[in-house]
Amino acid sequence: MKIAVIGAGEMGHGIAELAALHGHDVRMRDIKQEYLDRGMERIRWSLGKLVEKNQIRQAEADVALARIHATLDLREACHDADVAIEAVFEDAELKKKVFHELDAAAPQKTILASNTSALPITNMALATKRPQKVVGMHFFNPPMLMPLIEVIRADTTSDATLAATVELTKSLGKTPIVVRKDVPGFITSRVLGPYFEEAAWIHEQEGIPIETIDAAMRFRAGFPMGPFELADQVGVDVLHHLIVNANRPMPKAVQALVDAKKVGRKVGAGFYAYAEGRPKLTPEMGTTFEPIRILAPMINEAAELVSLDVASPAEIDEAMRLGTAFPKGPLATADDLGIDVLLAALNGHPRSRPAKILGEMVARGDLGVKSGKGFYEHRSGGAMTRYETLLVTTDAASMVATVTLNRPDRLNTLSPQVFDELEQSLIELDRHADVRCVVITGAGDRAFSAGADLTSFSDISKAFKVWQFSRRAEEVFSRLANFPRPTIAAINGHCFGGGLELAIACDFRIAAKRAKLGQTEVNIGLVPGAGGSQRLVRILGQPKAKELVFLGSRLSAQEAAAIGLVTKTVENEAFDSEVRSFAEKLAKQAPIAIRLAKTLLNRSGDVPIDAALEMEAMAFGLVASTEDIYEGLQAFMEKREPKFKGQ
Ligand code: NAD
Repeated sequence: MKIAVIGAGEMGHGIAELAALHGHDVRMRDIKQEYLDRGMERIRWSLGKLVEKNQIRQAEADVALARIHATLDLREACHDADVAIEAVFEDAELKKKVFHELDAAAPQKTILASNTSALPITNMALATKRPQKVVGMHFFNPPMLMPLIEVIRADTTSDATLAATVELTKSLGKTPIVVRKDVPGFITSRVLGPYFEEAAWIHEQEGIPIETIDAAMRFRAGFPMGPFELADQVGVDVLHHLIVNANRPMPKAVQALVDAKKVGRKVGAGFYAYAEGRPKLTPEMGTTFEPIRILAPMINEAAELVSLDVASPAEIDEAMRLGTAFPKGPLATADDLGIDVLLAALNGHPRSRPAKILGEMVARGDLGVKSGKGFYEHRSGGAMTRYETLLVTTDAASMVATVTLNRPDRLNTLSPQVFDELEQSLIELDRHADVRCVVITGAGDRAFSAGADLTSFSDISKAFKVWQFSRRAEEVFSRLANFPRPTIAAINGHCFGGGLELAIACDFRIAAKRAKLGQTEVNIGLVPGAGGSQRLVRILGQPKAKELVFLGSRLSAQEAAAIGLVTKTVENEAFDSEVRSFAEKLAKQAPIAIRLAKTLLNRSGDVPIDAALEMEAMAFGLVASTEDIYEGLQAFMEKREPKFKGQ
């Protein structure tokens, strides 16, 4: 394609480089030769870096550079362009003027796209005689690295223009998210807006230090940067401009920094001073600030977009993940937090009026994960059997299933019925296409599982019955150990005897700090009877395993972590979210590769090495023929998250 890029600044040069690297012919236009020269210099530098990092070959860089032609002449830039992408300053009047000029200079076929972050596209479209051929194409900075482009449909954009722009986006190796209506701020700028502004108002009106808010958002909510760090990174002047443009009131601290020309990292000072690098924040600094205070107004904007039918919850979440590093996306987060909790946080809020849709959802009982439905379906659609001793849920969005031992009044102890149901649920989950990771946990916050239900041994004289119990437990736990997807024991409380044997049949163990663990059978004159004597040795080695089994000692979560019995320990309050995010990471991995790797690793201790290496070679051959390996390689090259299909 022939692409004209209007503006050679921060975004323009990046868009030109990206397009040229993807095989398009580019003409880049600016208003002064020195701006063009600087843009070309930045492109040369960036291509050089890609060669240096072995991401492209020198010849590819040379070809890409040769495809870019810089010019001061607008007509030359766009006289035969298929698409012109405007990236001039964020100024509504200037943009209208540029679109008017582009309309006159470009042939009828040319699609005119704007890279504005928030200005209405329809106004630009109406400045032309081809409003049906005008569209928004919102790239992210830097365009070479960021995986998303928001494609915005103006009120006037035709289907054909929209479809061609989506195709162009794909040809650049980016993920398009179509913004179906030209609403202020589209998806990403609109939902991200309160991240900084809400933080700035809370800081101003309540005197909460910026470090406290930043640390909470970074360490507790999982954003890569807190709002004030982000403001310094983006430029306080840019945010100031955005607030002015949107006609919103200005927090004093923002005005003061702009007046003092302390506009962020680019000048060495903003909210923070950068003489010694990135602000030094620690998790402890953020413990007193609840992230929901900032998340709620952001989620509220996202909810409003759903009711305006601007995009679906999944599209909004994907746009926010890819464009702004919002950890799970706002609407998946809403489902986790609970729609009722969110609504309560927004009621009486000084700056955000709760979106109507939230009230409607609460009235319907769609409260999110806890009710099985929120912005997403969290039920298995009735496909899963209902169990008496277990609660089994699957989440189609994250592909994580949770099996909860549901006998909290009996400390989730293990009975023959629990074994039968656990076995049945594993068979069922194995058949479930949408399950890529299984978490096993206990109901309530007292116990994961306190071990065998001793009432099952009521007639202890019948030794045969006790033996049967142990054989059955061992059989079911072996099925769990060999379950062809990753498994996590989320140890939320006491984990003793058979409970620990269940946990060590899982691939990973994450323990809340309140948890206590022990292989305690000898204390009542038994031996571990469900694989404990063997799996424990394989995890800890003989001396440690003997110490645990012989003494029947009860370890704190930290002591268990110190000897490698648990993968990690987590603060009690953060337990659920840590387990969830670990499980989601596992669920995103390539299913076939994980399945084979699990088999290989599980058998590593008991197969002779020559046979084991032969098995490894065969597994390697097998994965090499999957579709997922192509997706993995492709995603790696394109610096995006892979989407594995398990094929
Ligand atoms: P910039 O100031 O770095 O570059 C703008 C360039 O446009 C300058 O080189 C300027 O000389 C040139 N220009 C001005 N009038 C022109 C004209 N009539 N014809 C040709 N060139 C002209 O700005 P930027 O950061 O690249 O932002 C450009 C657009 O991209 C804005 O709409 C902005 O909102 C949007 N955007 C920016 C970012 C970002 O992080 N910087 C991210 C996404 C979108």
